[in-house]
Amino acid sequence: MKNQHIVVAGAGIGGLAAALTLARAGQRVTLLERAAEFAELGAGIQLGPHAIKLLSRWGLREPLLARACLPEAIAVRDAVSGRSLSRILLGQAVQARYGEVYASVRRADLHALLLQAVRDEPQVTLHCNAQVNAVHQDAGLVNVQSAQGSHSADGLVAADGVWSGVRSAVFNDGAPRATGHAAYRAMLPMAQCPSAMASSIGVWWGRDVHVVHYPVHSGQYLNLVVLSEHSAARAVPGWASPASAATVLASVQGACAELKDLLGAASAWYSWHLYDRPAARSWVQGHVALMGDAAHPMLPYLAQGAAMALEDAQALADCTQAGEDWAGALGAYEQQRKSRCERVVATARRNARIFHLGWPWALARNAVLTLQGTQTLGMPWLYGYG
Ligand SMILES: Cc1cc2nc3c(=O)[nH]c(=O)nc-3n(C[C@H](O)[C@H](O)[C@H](O)COP(=O)(O)OP(=O)(O)OC[C@H]3O[C@@H](n4cnc5c(N)ncnc54)[C@H](O)[C@@H]3O)c2cc1C
Repeated sequence: MKNQHIVVAGAGIGGLAAALTLARAGQRVTLLERAAEFAELGAGIQLGPHAIKLLSRWGLREPLLARACLPEAIAVRDAVSGRSLSRILLGQAVQARYGEVYASVRRADLHALLLQAVRDEPQVTLHCNAQVNAVHQDAGLVNVQSAQGSHSADGLVAADGVWSGVRSAVFNDGAPRATGHAAYRAMLPMAQCPSAMASSIGVWWGRDVHVVHYPVHSGQYLNLVVLSEHSAARAVPGWASPASAATVLASVQGACAELKDLLGAASAWYSWHLYDRPAARSWVQGHVALMGDAAHPMLPYLAQGAAMALEDAQALADCTQAGEDWAGALGAYEQQRKSRCERVVATARRNARIFHLGWPWALARNAVLTLQGTQTLGMPWLYGYG
């Protein structure tokens, strides 16, 4: 199936990837983004070998790696004692096992790369300042009303994120709810950090809280994230509410001095309240399909939000190429993606419980990890995909 007119709502990482892959699969794409312009928002994103394989297929691997970092390992430590619990090998060990590298990137670098690829694609028309306000389906066509006018199309892909208005309007299955968890994010110039932090991902586990840091932007910055189960402030949707250093430090009260000093070195913190939405019963309604966070919002405890959106995009394009019509292609897409994404969502939730255990369960967890010793990154069902 070729030359269908597809509207994609939302030009985040998922929407850009969908516009790119659908255009390259021979479809005509109108991409509608609510924002007037693309600001440098967001922090870091980890991309496993399954995601890098897709970027490689799209010809974006080398420009991405020019801005990315390739951490050698994940170093897991106890946030209170500072004791080392486990070392999970990435680097060459991951490349040997999964056939691609494991990278850490600044979200804005990945977004900018996809945006440029989309802008270079003659089959994509991108409109900013074009919030999708209403969707009507009739006689095999979709009519999409946006702030930039109305668009009649063969299909609509909702890539409008966790607060997806398209999902609420078309699927009518409830609103996102605040989980009570918050992520506090900051960037620290690498020159201010201990040198070991430039070459690995650091994870510190505490009770109801954990901290993750990794290098981004060719190693110039350390991306710092504190994930706390008890957000101090009232939950607000969005990624960029400023947070005070005092709030961040209060969330890691019992932590060791080394960790507190690291967090205390950052001045500009942003909070990101974590929202969740029950799994959509179906991702397809007539000629409308959900993808990315609109379909499967997830807690960031497995670092898979961006990777799953990239996989969705490729699957969607593959299914349109193989399918005879848009409805058939969407059925195949849902079949291919839904159970995998549900497994990822469930694994991220399970990680939240394991990472945030308190005494005495944390002792048992730490003993098991210490016994296991150094290992290569596991979960081949996740990282070995594609
Ligand atoms: C600013 C920002 C910062 C982030 N930071 C991190 C991070 O640090 N770490 C991490 O793991 N994940 C982060 N994420 C989430 C991660 O990027 C996503 O899980 C993943 O990339 C999947 O993205 P998505 O495209 O499905 O949704 P999103 O990235 O949320 O993109 C949705 C897009 O749709 C647009 N939109 C929303 N409503 C409408 C509408 N009605 N009409 C038109 N457009 C609309 C939004 O403006 C946005 O551009 C961030 C997301 C955003 C938007």
